[in-house]
Amino acid sequence: MNNILDINGISKFYGPIQALDNVSFSVPAGSVFGILGPNGSGKTTLLGIVMDILRATSGTFTLLGQPPSADSRKHIGTLLETPNFYHYLSGENNLRIAAEIKGSGKDNINEVLQKVNLYDRRMSKFMTYSLGMKQRLAIASALLGNPDVLVFDEPTNGLDPVGIAEIRELIKRLAEEGKTIIMASHLLDEVEKVCTHVAILKKGKLLLSGNVDEVLVNEDIVEVSASSLDRLEEVMRSLNGHINMKRNPHSLQVNYPLGTANLERINQHCFSQGVVLNLLQLKKKSLETKFFELTNN
Ligand code: ATP
Repeated sequence: MNNILDINGISKFYGPIQALDNVSFSVPAGSVFGILGPNGSGKTTLLGIVMDILRATSGTFTLLGQPPSADSRKHIGTLLETPNFYHYLSGENNLRIAAEIKGSGKDNINEVLQKVNLYDRRMSKFMTYSLGMKQRLAIASALLGNPDVLVFDEPTNGLDPVGIAEIRELIKRLAEEGKTIIMASHLLDEVEKVCTHVAILKKGKLLLSGNVDEVLVNEDIVEVSASSLDRLEEVMRSLNGHINMKRNPHSLQVNYPLGTANLERINQHCFSQGVVLNLLQLKKKSLETKFFELTNN
């Protein structure tokens, strides 16, 4: 699979403030790539650099395998901030203006309106749209000209749960059509639900990147407990195969490489060492746990 975007060692300073620190990762074609990080971690800055709104202090990147150019950016539809639509004009007329400014997409206005489920409301004035509809019109505008790659900054920001679900469904449909989607988000849940790949940023530094399943759920977590946690820990340490172990107030958390935790073996081993377990369960590591582990350290 070819990469749509390859970022190599990008750093960005705003005066004395370092917003990005030597960030490198690649976005494979056909992926829904989430750039995840708390507020101020550098997501918007990174997207701004890729879209030529900002200049990197150092580092390089390629778009569609080429050094970035106005030509390669024509294959990218962006939604970086809510566009300035005309309140008194209809959704359709706003898209006509957007297509005019963009210099492409005049012929697929109806198609993009259908894709974002606004075709029936295309003649209504923009000011009568709900927030979710406004956001979908913004996505329709990004889809003008049928770009292969879409870049969205916080696409569900400010929406209610219904609006959020609509945008998520829309992103999934676009991904099924084969579009590559790069989106910044501070919502773990969003990335977990729609993204195939993720890069996690914290204070401008890349913590990890890769396939969501591989990088985020790469361990089995076993929670065990017994009347004496000291003795339990001793016994669990004598059983090989774990990656690490952590004491909780009332239990022990033992991590194993994905797919290798064997509850029967653990149970048998503890029992043979005279420890009777009162808790033994396998938990999936959620993105949330991983995210907080990464960003709190
Ligand atoms: P958010 O989710 O809040 O939008 P973000 O992850 O997109 O955050 P950025 O907006 O890229 O992060 O900001 C990264 C850092 O750079 C922050 O410390 C921010 O204060 C700083 N920063 C961003 N833009 C500017 C600017 N124009 N001048 C000075 N500092 C800036």
